[in-house]
Amino acid sequence: MPLDLSFSCPLPNGVHARPASALEEVARSFTADVLLLNQRTGRSANAKSILSIVGADIRFSDPCLLKISGLDEERALVALGAFIRNTLPRQETALPTFATATGELQLPRCLEKSGAVFRRGTAVVPGIAQGRIVRAGGFNVPDGLPMDGITDVLAEQRRVGDALDELIAWYGRRASAAGKGIESDLLVAHRSLARDEELRTCLFEAITTRQRTAAGAIADAEARFTKILAASENPLLRERVLDVRDVCAQLLQRVYGDATATRSLTLGEDSIVVADSLTPCQFLFLDCRFLKGLVLAEAGTTSHTVILARSFGVPTLVGVEKIDGLADNAEAVLDADIGALVTNLTDTAQRYYSMERQRLDGRQAVLRNFSGKRATTRDGHAIEIAANIATVEEADRAFAAGAEGIGLFRTEMLFLDRAAAPDEAEQHEIYHRVIEAADGCPVIVRTMDIGGDKALSYLNLPPEHNPFLGYRAMRIYRHFESLFRTQVRALVRASAYGELRLMLPMVSTLEEIRWAKKIIAEEQDRCAAESKPFDKAMQIGTMVEVPSAAFALNDFCREVDFFSIGSNDLLQYFMAVDRTDSRIASLYNPLQPGFLRLLKQIVDTARANKKWIGLCGEMGGQKGYLPLLAGLGLDEISVSAPAIGGLKAELSRLDLADCQQLFASALGCATADEVGALLDKFSAQHSLPLLAPEMIVINADAATKEEAIKRGVDLLYIHGRTEQPRAIEEAIWQREATYSTGFGHGFAIPHCKSGAINANSLVVLKFSQPVPWNSLDEKPVRVVILMAIRESDGASEHMKIISALARQVTHESFRDSIEQEQDPARLCALIKSKIGC
Ligand code: PEP
Ligand code: MG
Repeated sequence: MPLDLSFSCPLPNGVHARPASALEEVARSFTADVLLLNQRTGRSANAKSILSIVGADIRFSDPCLLKISGLDEERALVALGAFIRNTLPRQETALPTFATATGELQLPRCLEKSGAVFRRGTAVVPGIAQGRIVRAGGFNVPDGLPMDGITDVLAEQRRVGDALDELIAWYGRRASAAGKGIESDLLVAHRSLARDEELRTCLFEAITTRQRTAAGAIADAEARFTKILAASENPLLRERVLDVRDVCAQLLQRVYGDATATRSLTLGEDSIVVADSLTPCQFLFLDCRFLKGLVLAEAGTTSHTVILARSFGVPTLVGVEKIDGLADNAEAVLDADIGALVTNLTDTAQRYYSMERQRLDGRQAVLRNFSGKRATTRDGHAIEIAANIATVEEADRAFAAGAEGIGLFRTEMLFLDRAAAPDEAEQHEIYHRVIEAADGCPVIVRTMDIGGDKALSYLNLPPEHNPFLGYRAMRIYRHFESLFRTQVRALVRASAYGELRLMLPMVSTLEEIRWAKKIIAEEQDRCAAESKPFDKAMQIGTMVEVPSAAFALNDFCREVDFFSIGSNDLLQYFMAVDRTDSRIASLYNPLQPGFLRLLKQIVDTARANKKWIGLCGEMGGQKGYLPLLAGLGLDEISVSAPAIGGLKAELSRLDLADCQQLFASALGCATADEVGALLDKFSAQHSLPLLAPEMIVINADAATKEEAIKRGVDLLYIHGRTEQPRAIEEAIWQREATYSTGFGHGFAIPHCKSGAINANSLVVLKFSQPVPWNSLDEKPVRVVILMAIRESDGASEHMKIISALARQVTHESFRDSIEQEQDPARLCALIKSKIGC
C-alpha cells in the first residue's frame, strides 16, 4: 500500500528546473518508487527524474500528491515531508527579465542614410564585432539515417544504453578537465540530464514498442522533452530546451560517430555565428579565435549560452528578428551598442565601422600607456588601483587592464546558484588560480558574504523582513561553522602560493573578529600538523562597512592587519537609506559632508595605528570622486576592471597637496551640494587643458559632415574626455539644427554644452579633402574646431570661448596660420595664445 503525501505548490513560479532537481535529489536517495501527481492536470511524474517532474507542469497552488512505495517508504515519507515543508518553499528564483528591444532603432547620424540593413535585437554582451555570417545550432538527424524498422531490439537498446553511459562519463571527464567555473557547472548540469531515468526509459520504449532505431528514439525523446519544456509558461523551463537538445545531439553523435556531429562547426575566418538557439556545448566547441559575435533568435538573458558568451567576452544579441533571411557567408557587423545586426554593409556603413574600430582601439591604446605603470599622482604619490572580482575569469581581465592587485574577491558568487556549497578542493583550486593570475600582486579574498538578500537554498535560511540588517556575512559563520572552516582552510592552503590576504565582511564587533581569528588559527595549526604548506604571515583584515566598526576601529587595529572601506554598505547604514529605493535615492550620496567626516575618521584611525587601508565600494570607480579619495589618504582604491585605466590616467593629472586641500574644504561644507560645487570647481581648475596637442589631427579624413563630427567626438572619447560619445554627438546635432556652424572661409565650429563631457574641450581637425557642410558661404570646410563645454560651467564659459574663436576665424591671418601649421604642438600653442586659454 503506497504512502501518500499531499501538498499544494508553494512556488509562485511553479516547479521549474531548480526545485525539480532538489526534489529529484531527495527522492533518489531512497529505493522506494516516488510518483508525483499533479491533480489539476492529472499528469503524473517520476519524482526521480527532473525531466519528468518539470513535464508535470506544476504551477502555483496546484494540488499535488506524492505516492511512495517500496522497502524504505517510511523513511522516504519523513524526508520528503520535511523537504516539502522546509526546503521547497525556498526554492523560488526570480524570473529573468528579458527586455525585448522595442521602439524605433536610434541610429547614429552616420548610419541613418547608409543603406545598410538593420535587424534589431537585445544586446546581452556588449561590443562590436565584424565577420562572416555562419549558421549553427539546432538538432537535426542527418538525411539518410534510418529512423525505424529495427529487428534486433536488444542490440539497439544496448547501443543506445552504452552511448548514454559513455556520454555521462564524457560529461564528467570534460567537467573535471574544465576546472571550476561556468563551463564545468554546465557540463555537470548536462550530465544530470543524461542520467535522467525518464530519458533512458523514453529511449528504450521507443525502440521496444515502435521499433525505432537509435536515431529515431533520440529524435523522439528530443521532440518530446523540448515540446514539454517549450510549452511551459515558465521562462526558466523554456530555456532548458537548449540543454535537452544538447544532450540529444551529443548522444546521436556518440551512437553514429562524427558524421552526425553538430559540434564540429568549423570557423576558418572571423565569424558571427547565427542560430535560432545554440546549446552551451555547441558554443564551447566553436573556435574562439574566430568567434567574433553571436546572434540568437531565441534565448533569454539568463540562458547558459549567454552566460558563457559573457564570460568569454563575445558580443551577443538575442531575440534578433528575421534571421531566416540572412545569407550564409554574408559580411555583417554585430553592433551591441545600437542593438542591431547590420548587413548589406555599404561603403558608408563600412566607413562607420572602421571609425568605430579606430575609436575603440584608440581608447585602448591610450589606456595601455597607463596599464603597465604604477598608479601615481603627478607629484609621484602612489595609490594602488586594484580590482574587484567575483570569478577567476575576471582576474585575468583585471590584470590585463592594469590592476595592481585584487582589492576585493567577492567569494559569495562561488556559493550561489548551485545545489551545495563548493568543497575545500574546489575552493582551493579557484583561489590558487586567482593567485596565479596575480603573479605576485596582492589578492584580498573576502570570505563569503551570504545570507540576507543573497540567500542560498541549501542553507535553509528563513526569509527576513529586513535582509540588509539581518542574518548575513560574518553573522552566520558561527551557526555554519563548518562552512566557514572549509573556506578558511582552502584560503590558508592557497596562501602558500602568493600574497593572499583574508578579509572578513560585515564586521560590527571586536568579538566577531576574535572568534574568526581563533578559527583561522586552528585551521592553520591543522595545516601545519598535516604538513600542508601555508603562509604563516597571511594578513587578516576586515571590511569597514558597518558604522559601529568605524567607531571601534582603534580596538580593531590591535587584532587585524588591514582594512577596506565598503562604501556601498557603509553609506547605506550610515544614512539609513535603502539604496534600492528610488524615492530616497537622493539621500544615498557619498558627498554628504557627514559621510566624508566618517571616512576621514576611519582613515585617520587606521593611519595612526599604521594600518593599511583601501576602499572597495562603487564610490571608488567614479572618476569624479577621485580627487576627494586621493585627498582622503587611502593606500588603495579597488574598482571594477573597466574603470582601472581611466582612474590611473586621471590620478596622473592630480597633485596630492591639491587633493588634500580639497578634502579639507569638503569637510567644512554643510551640504552635499556644496561639496559637489567644490568638486566641480576643482575639476574645472585641475582638469585637462581646453586644448592639447593630442586633440589635434592634421590629416583627418571624412566624407561627410556626419563623419567629420563623429571623428571629433571620437577623439574626445579616446582621450577620456567623455564616456558617452553618442550623447555629445546628439547635442552637437541639436545645435546644428538651429543654425549652421560653418562660418565660411572653409572653417566650421560645431559645439555643444553637455553633462556628458568631463572637461571643457576643443578638438581641431584639418581635413586632407574638404568636407561638404552647409556653411554660410556654401563652401566645404577644411578645418573643424569642435567645442564641448560642461553643462555645469553655465552659458558664460560657452559664450566666452565660442565668441573668441568666432572672432579669430574672421581674421584671414589666423585662418592662414592654422592652415599652414602642420605641427600639432605648435598649432595648439598658437590657438591657445589667440583665444587666451
Ligand atoms: C560595499 O559594501 O561597499 C562592498 C564592497 O561590499 P558589497 O558591495 O559586496 O556588499
Ligand atoms: Mg558590503
